[in-house]
Amino acid sequence: MEVIREVLAHQRRMRDGGCTGRICLRCARHHLDTVRSAMENGRRIDFVLPAFPTKSPNPAKVLGPLPDLAEELALRFLNELCERIGDIYPPGAAITICSDGRVFNDLLGVSDENVTAYAHELDRMIGEIGAGHLEQFTLDDVYSGAGHEEMRTMLSGAWAPSLDELRAEVRAGGAPLAMYRGITRFMLEDLSGPDYTGTRSALQRRCRDLAYRVIQRSRAWGDLLGRLFPSAIRLSIHPQPCSTEKIGILLGDTPDAWLTPWHSVAVERDGGYTLMKRAEAERAGARAVFVGGRATHYVL
Ligand SMILES: [Zn+2]
Repeated sequence: MEVIREVLAHQRRMRDGGCTGRICLRCARHHLDTVRSAMENGRRIDFVLPAFPTKSPNPAKVLGPLPDLAEELALRFLNELCERIGDIYPPGAAITICSDGRVFNDLLGVSDENVTAYAHELDRMIGEIGAGHLEQFTLDDVYSGAGHEEMRTMLSGAWAPSLDELRAEVRAGGAPLAMYRGITRFMLEDLSGPDYTGTRSALQRRCRDLAYRVIQRSRAWGDLLGRLFPSAIRLSIHPQPCSTEKIGILLGDTPDAWLTPWHSVAVERDGGYTLMKRAEAERAGARAVFVGGRATHYVL
């Protein structure tokens, strides 16, 4: 219970998720067997987190295509979570970051080269900050040697639900509808950068369609990960309903529960850090901080 409490202390909750208390005991009980089984075998506790896909292509939100201080802070946060679990249970914990950039970058208009560069830099960062409890796993590891487009085709062919199935789930409301709305909002922001010249309503139609396809591929990736990592606890960056197979988790302290490091910049303020969209940080008067000739974050 202590181990699960550490994780649930950073739980990202749905607004109407039905979770109770500061730490939801119903959610905790749901994951007890997985943790108990690891402990009975003296194994480390494994978590799987589909996240850190690629930077948003919208320059109004981020500093560029590579991970920066926003990612570094999130990696440190996740590694420290594992360290605290290690204090409670010495075999410890590890989080496998299952980067989903390659899974849907084509839908976001992000190049495969940028996905590769982002993943490499993330690996380098994990090494540099000594985040020994974090590992990275990508679609490239599943279908090594295949072309990028071919990887996505194989993943979808084997694991994706049909668009009709997804539409029916979203129409039924609840968590799938919240997820669909959240992703549509991100697509709208990501694709309404300075290069977009069409009408707002055409963009909205396109984003609603793309959101379904992003969810379709994410679901495929998630199901494949469930098969590859059957004894791991599934974390998610999206808020989750109470006592389901996934635990929604925050990647740091941020006022907007939907904001992630790859959709924002890190802003130093009052001795701490927060995440903001780049344009908002600049409007608020924040100035960029450069390390080694590259902007890494802002100071307000
Ligand atoms: Zn709950």
